Order: sequence, then C-alpha cells, then structure tokens
Amino acid sequence: MFLVREGIKPIIVEAESFPRYHIGESMTGAGGKVLRDLGLADQMYKRKHPTKQGVKVYGQSAKGTWFVPVTGRDENWKLFEWDTWQVRRSDFDKMMLEEAVSRGATPIQGKAVKPLKGNGSITGAQIRMADSDKLEDIESQVLLDCSGQATWLANLGGFTGPKYLGAYDKQIAIFSQVVNTIRDNGGTRETHKDNTLIFYQKKYHWGWFIPLDEEVVSVGIVCPSAYFLDKKESKRDFYIRELRELHPELSRRIPEIKLVEDVHVIPNYSYQVNGFCGKGFICIGDAHRFIDPIFSFGLTVTMREGQFVAPIIRRYLEGANRDKPNPFADHQLFCEMGIDVLEDVLDSFWEHPLSFAHCVYSRYTEYMTDMFAGRIYAHERQPTPALLSFRKLLNREGEREQSYKSSDLYSIPIGSRYHPERAAIWEVNSPVETTETWMGPR
Ligand SMILES: Cc1cc2nc3c(=O)[nH]c(=O)nc-3n(C[C@H](O)[C@H](O)[C@H](O)COP(=O)(O)OP(=O)(O)OC[C@H]3O[C@@H](n4cnc5c(N)ncnc54)[C@H](O)[C@@H]3O)c2cc1C
Repeated sequence: MFLVREGIKPIIVEAESFPRYHIGESMTGAGGKVLRDLGLADQMYKRKHPTKQGVKVYGQSAKGTWFVPVTGRDENWKLFEWDTWQVRRSDFDKMMLEEAVSRGATPIQGKAVKPLKGNGSITGAQIRMADSDKLEDIESQVLLDCSGQATWLANLGGFTGPKYLGAYDKQIAIFSQVVNTIRDNGGTRETHKDNTLIFYQKKYHWGWFIPLDEEVVSVGIVCPSAYFLDKKESKRDFYIRELRELHPELSRRIPEIKLVEDVHVIPNYSYQVNGFCGKGFICIGDAHRFIDPIFSFGLTVTMREGQFVAPIIRRYLEGANRDKPNPFADHQLFCEMGIDVLEDVLDSFWEHPLSFAHCVYSRYTEYMTDMFAGRIYAHERQPTPALLSFRKLLNREGEREQSYKSSDLYSIPIGSRYHPERAAIWEVNSPVETTETWMGPR
C-alpha cells in the first residue's frame, strides 16, 4: 500500500491462500499508527478488532506487577494517550491483502522457489504457481523478501549475509485460543478488558493473554525448549498443564479450559540475517530478524519497515544509488539500529529485571513508554537516556556505536549467543533476578 502511494504497482506473491492462521496478534502504538497512516483506522474499529490500551505484566507477586499504557507522540513530541489493536491474523492479513489489491497491487498465488539473477543483482523470482503447479519467472527491479520466519533469501544462501542464531533461539512457544475467560471489566486504562496481559513465572518462562474478540483469547506459553522436552508431554497436554500451573493469575482467568484452535508450536524463533539488503533486493520484517515475542514488536517492525522503504524504492527506480554496491545500505543500517534498540530493551528485561522495572516506574517512564510503543528509530530520538543506561548495564555502550561506524558492521551480531565475547554471558547460569525483587507500582 505504501508502494502504491509512491506511484509503484507492486506484485504480491503469497504461497498460502488467505485467510490462514498466523501468530502475532498484539500491536504497539507505532504499529497502530501505521494503520492510521494508511487510512485504515475506521475499518479497524468497524471490524471490531479489540482496542488495546496497554500491557500489564504480572510478576511473581503483586509487588512485581506493572502496567505500560499505549501512547503516541504529537508533532511537538508531546506524549498523548492512545489505543492500538489486537488482531486475529487470519482476518487482519486477509483485510490487508484485499486492501492492497483494491489500491492497485497485483496478487499472485504461488510459492517463490528461487531468485533470478543477472549482472550481480537479483532480477526477479521463479514462482511455482498455485493453480497450475507450473514454474513461471517474474522479473523485478526490486525484490522484497517478506517471507517471515521462512527467511527465504537467507536460507537459499549466497544473496544475503549469514543468518545467525539470536539470543532467544533456545526458546519454544506453544499457543492456542481459548474461550470462557475472565477479563478485566474496564473503568481505567489499566483494567481495560482488551489489554495484553503477560505472566512472568521465571527467567525465560512466561505466558501471554491477548483478546481477539469478545469471546476468544489467544494464550501462549513460552519457555526454554529443554523444559518442554523434559516434560515428555504432548504439546496439547503440556499447554493445558501450563495454563493451570504457569501463574496463579493466568489460571484464575481461565477457570475452565476450552480450546477453539489447534495447539501450535514455534521453536527457535530468534535469529538475525546480516547483509539483508543488496543489489535488487531488500528483506523486510521477520525475513531478516526476530528477537523475542514478549512485548509484541514483530508486526510493528514489519509494517514500519514497509512504510520506510517505499520512498527509498521510488527514488531508486528514479535512478538514485543505482551504481552503489549496496543501493539500500542506509536503509539497512537505519533498520538495524532500530531493532538493536529492541534487542537491548529485551535483553535488559531478561538480564536485569530490577533495573528494568525501576526505569519503567520512576527513572525513565516517558522513554520507556516510547520503547513499548515501538518508537525505536533514530528519528524518534533514539538512543534515549534509558536505552543508554541499558547499554551500560549490558556492557554494550561503545560496542554498538563502534559497530555502526565500522565497515565490518556485519560481523557476528552483538546480541547473538555466538558472539565470541558474549557467548559466555548467555551460557553462564548466573544468579537469576526475579520479579520478587522488583520495585512494585509507583
Ligand atoms: C510465538 C510468537 C508470538 C508472537 N506474538 C506477536 C505479537 O503479539 N505481536 C506482534 O506484533 N508480533 C508477534 N510475533 C511476531 C509476528 O508474528 C511477526 O513478527 C510478524 O508476523 C512478521 O510479519 P512478516 O510480514 O514479516 O511475516 P509473516 O507474517 O510470517 O508473513 C510471511 C508470509 O510470507 C509467505 N511466504 C513465506 N515463504 C514464501 C514463499 N517462498 N513464497 C511465497 N510466499 C511465502 C507466508 O505464507 C506468509 O504469509 C510473534 C512471534 C512469535 C514467534
């Protein structure tokens, strides 16, 4: 849709037929703003996607429970209260695809098999067409790899840089949808019935509760894969037992467990592809990086990258940067710096929950709401003092800056467990701070 606005008529190749189930249902304030920028707010309200006013994190005790409201920033960078949306992805993705087509995009149902190459550039893709099973070549001036966790180009090798395991690679997510839940009953933003709820049991072990309509709630459990394997349970048995045991607040909200969706599993969801832009191609969203789902940044990053890249592609089609070895190098660095903000926020939450909660409640409340709202990019006043203090805690202060200046930006990413100087930090079974020691609400 953003490409169409720039006067470009894109072709969208999609392997699956919509509607189809997908995970990734809770948006941030900045994610909601993308939909508002596209003029879709009325449709979102009309279709009754639940509105989210904030995220509440239940720690191990009442003291460790905290809330971050959804916010926006006006043109003078003044903070204001906002709402965003929770989406059932089968409905939302179908709506987005149909809307893009109605605005001028051409849909093709088929599976991209391999890129076409010429003169050191990607020049298109070979597609296995869904209706005929035949292979067809589609030429392109710019190929956008939006293949999600399939990381299509990176997995084919030889086009992007290497794909590294991310810090949360050893995690597994198990999720479904339930009904007959107990939701909050409104009155304040904090008790709004459609908010995202997070239940923290211990380090790397948590659950989510995301309302999808008046009845159905998406509930997921995330934990170390080793814990899941140790239990030797089927995914369904594991899921149901965890709903009862993970956190008293979660079990209170689901008194009688009734699933209305299969139990799905995604292991090893954390990775980073380096060199994700190049001659004739740009990877967007999960196609190049995903860290950890806890604070719902995935859709926001994907949609924002789509928004940012459209004018850059227009200028490229008009002739800009054609002769550069990587015509999209600036965009690549800009995106990488934004997601690095998220990585440092998420790593701080897991590694230093005490300091993290202190920043949310008292030290850097406004900056923290910015980060939770997905305002993570350089033009959004990043890095903020809150982020700089996280980088200090994580011993990453100079390192990040250095990597942005270095021509060797794409050595092993700082957040990876496989970074030579970081592996020990990730692997070590260091004493775990718990939410018991958090500061508690203001
Ligand atoms: C457990 C978990 C929970 C999450 N929860 C949230 C959340 O609450 N909020 C949030 O914002 N994000 C969440 N995310 C992240 C979110 O799911 C993703 O970041 C988001 O969906 C990425 O969008 P995308 O467009 O990059 O990829 P996708 O949404 O995955 O879309 C990729 C599309 O490409 C198609 N495709 C793939 N390969 C090919 C091919 N070869 N040819 C043609 N088509 C192809 C697929 O069929 C798919 O439709 C979560 C992630 C996980 C793992």
